[in-house]
Amino acid sequence: MKSDRVVSVAIVGGGASGTILAAQLARRGIASILIDGSGRIGRGVAYSTTEPAHLLNVRADGMSAMAGEPEHFADWFEARGGNRAGFAQRRLFANYLAELLDEAVGSGCTELSHSTVVTAARGEDWRIELDNGQSIAARALVLALGNQPPGGLRAFDQAGPNYIANPWGARASAAVRDSAENGGRVLLVGTGLTMIDLVLSLEAAGHDGQVVAISRRGQIPRAHGDYDPSPVAAGELPSGNLRDMLRWVRRRSVVAGWRAAVDSLRPHSHPLWQSLSADEQKRFLRHARPYWDVHRHRIAPEVSNIVARLIAAGSLEIISGRIVAADAAEEGINVTYRRRGEEESRTARFDYVFNCTGPLHSIERTNDRLVRSLLNAGEVRPDHLGIGLEVDERARATPGQRLWALGPLTKGRYWEIVAVPDIREQAAQVADDIAQELAG
Ligand SMILES: Cc1cc2nc3c(=O)[nH]c(=O)nc-3n(C[C@H](O)[C@H](O)[C@H](O)COP(=O)(O)OP(=O)(O)OC[C@H]3O[C@@H](n4cnc5c(N)ncnc54)[C@H](O)[C@@H]3O)c2cc1C
Repeated sequence: MKSDRVVSVAIVGGGASGTILAAQLARRGIASILIDGSGRIGRGVAYSTTEPAHLLNVRADGMSAMAGEPEHFADWFEARGGNRAGFAQRRLFANYLAELLDEAVGSGCTELSHSTVVTAARGEDWRIELDNGQSIAARALVLALGNQPPGGLRAFDQAGPNYIANPWGARASAAVRDSAENGGRVLLVGTGLTMIDLVLSLEAAGHDGQVVAISRRGQIPRAHGDYDPSPVAAGELPSGNLRDMLRWVRRRSVVAGWRAAVDSLRPHSHPLWQSLSADEQKRFLRHARPYWDVHRHRIAPEVSNIVARLIAAGSLEIISGRIVAADAAEEGINVTYRRRGEEESRTARFDYVFNCTGPLHSIERTNDRLVRSLLNAGEVRPDHLGIGLEVDERARATPGQRLWALGPLTKGRYWEIVAVPDIREQAAQVADDIAQELAG
């Protein structure tokens, strides 16, 4: 790659979002360079797992990466012996994304760069500096950086090396293997989908020690189940008031079942979210979100069965409570925690502690040098909740020019924009918008 060469579109971040966008641009004959130095290009965080026990949490027939082609993944999966109504292994979805990317590269439209972008500055074009010392000029820039890695847990600042701050990193895999070999006692802080992944990884590695998972409310993801869909028209839904919306979901659950009630909101989720004031959205994030997440982002029944079996056997305990303190102990960590409703704290020793609290929800605390440089230059702004970047209705980062954001970075505006069914629609719209902009 020579410096100062001008490409049409630079896509920073080669996870599912960036990969799908590259494929959409290639279908429109638009050249792009997909840049990701993490070693996960074409897969990203979610689909880099090689663990067969890690399943998609959406049925195959909902996982098409291509807008307007709902059967795209289901057909691919079925052609390889899968059940289109079942839950594919995430590593297989990675193969599907890799094929999409190969196709885009094969078309001559998409180029790959295995590097990390450190800064981007706007002149006539975007000038993008890479960590390998090279630079690229691009007419359009897309940020598809995914979720921010988990924020630190302050209580574990002095907890020593057996505290695993990033459950997706290489240290986490080594800690899982070590726990399995030594039968260690493991604490998972957080009880959502990341916790489920860790439980499955430990189980698959043969871990037979005790696992404890703790969160304020002790809510764990519910299982998918069969139900009769119960679609609603937008006009039937209350908007602008969180309490009214939650009441509506409760009433609808009684009539149609909670799965149908929750899923009936999906096609309306963006306008519903946008109808709430910033204060109402903050209230949702503070109080309703833990309950919403476990009902909305469900797990495959086979995964739920494993979790239920481990709980019944006493090898997995879910605690509702909070961490009080943590200190490094010999080859482990002493953790003091308080169960919900109890006055007294307890202290227990764990061999490893994994931070499973999920992505950082504060863009201003980001460690990403590129985001920092764009924030400092005023090319992008935090959204009104501070959880991602401010974007307009076309996912253009404001006030930047020829600058788009894609996927989880835009969750302040859309909220439901982290799963493939939402990302594929956004990627197609952004590809159309870029095509129009570059033609103009
Ligand atoms: C464990 C897990 C399981 C999930 N399961 C499902 C599921 O079953 N179904 C579903 O629909 N959704 C699922 N999701 C949600 C969703 O599919 C993912 O969040 C989605 O893949 C997001 O993709 P992304 O490309 O936006 O982000 P990421 O996958 O995080 O990719 C972003 C990439 O950008 C790179 N990057 C960041 N900064 C830079 C930089 N400065 N320069 C270069 N590269 C950079 C990162 O290294 C990373 O590789 C899951 C998510 C997770 C975490």
